Amino acid sequence: MEFERVEESNGSVRITACTGTELAVCPQCATPTTRVHDRNQRRLRDVSCGRRPIQVELEVRRFVCGDGSCPVATFAEQVNGLTIKHQRHTVRLRARRPAGGRRAGRRGF
Ligand SMILES: [Zn+2]
Repeated sequence: MEFERVEESNGSVRITACTGTELAVCPQCATPTTRVHDRNQRRLRDVSCGRRPIQVELEVRRFVCGDGSCPVATFAEQVNGLTIKHQRHTVRLRARRPAGGRRAGRRGF
């Protein structure tokens, strides 16, 4: 991962980073690919630094699966130890939450 910026504002810390991944492996068929479909900005909540919440703005790539017959046409890369598919918090933050601690009324998926 490449860190681009670390900013502090309004009592919170924002880290801007990108992955620099050249090659990804399809999670469905394990075919490696270098074909980038597009890029997305993901915003993840991370564990707090003292009382300051940390937010990670991460640019991730969506790759095209190299196997034309794979049911997964495109897939977003995941960063080991940081991102969880479809989650808006980091692996570290999830590890700190109590088991089954899903909050009611949470938006997203
Ligand atoms: Zn595939």
